[in-house]
Amino acid sequence: MPQAPLTRLLERARAEGTAIGAMNVITLEHAEAIVIGAEAADRPVVIQLSENTVAYRGSLGPVGLACLRIAEESSTEVCVHLDHATDPELVRAAVDLGFDSVMFDASTRPHAENVRTTAAIAAWCHDHGIAVEAELGEVGGKDGVHAPGVRTDPGDARRFVEATGVDALAVAVGSSHAMVTRDARLDDDLIARLHAAVPVPLVLHGSSGVPDDGLRSAVRAGVRKVNIATHLNLQMTRAITTVVDEGRADPRIYLGAGRDAMALEVQRILMLLSINSEASIDR
Ligand SMILES: [Zn+2]
Repeated sequence: MPQAPLTRLLERARAEGTAIGAMNVITLEHAEAIVIGAEAADRPVVIQLSENTVAYRGSLGPVGLACLRIAEESSTEVCVHLDHATDPELVRAAVDLGFDSVMFDASTRPHAENVRTTAAIAAWCHDHGIAVEAELGEVGGKDGVHAPGVRTDPGDARRFVEATGVDALAVAVGSSHAMVTRDARLDDDLIARLHAAVPVPLVLHGSSGVPDDGLRSAVRAGVRKVNIATHLNLQMTRAITTVVDEGRADPRIYLGAGRDAMALEVQRILMLLSINSEASIDR
């Protein structure tokens, strides 16, 4: 199936009162597991590559092209997205390769610089028909440092979107990246106020640390894209560890077990995010 533009998936999620799942690729098995899970759930999905993963792999090309081809061969809608890019050159490379959308993350820079650089990237991407996600209020948690105390102000968020022209906004509402326990408590009242104030869909990063009921209430409050990576890595790694501990040496056996375990959890999470709610306050 042709790749799905992020804006189309977000628009449908808005109309449904649901959220799109956005899951991170590190190995080929990740990309396969995400798409297998999405096909089983009969839901669209975003497969995303982070700048950190591109650095780990050494270049964007091989893994990026694999993601694009997996999306094309899928029977469900798949958006291929660049996650947490801080380097404008990587944004340009991803767009040139055929990615559907990018997240440009200048959230650690001074505010005026975040606005200026994000606006320039958004203008360039829009000229190329590509949607841009940005972040305001650093979600934190990279490098093992949890920062669940950071919050995005609704007025600042609205002004940031108006000044930059971005298509989706990642906000800090109580989650933190790379959590291996699911006990983060989100500020649903703040999500609802951000949803009312910001004219574009909200994105939740650090969703691995959020329990199922927290994800559901975040969607009810207005989150439209849910980024989840560490939680799925845990499912994969546990399954691989079990098989390796049995003495199996063939990577197809242990990586296959990891892929199967991850696909099942992808399916479950996508179903969770697709449950519509009467209580949705969507516009
Ligand atoms: Zn993130």
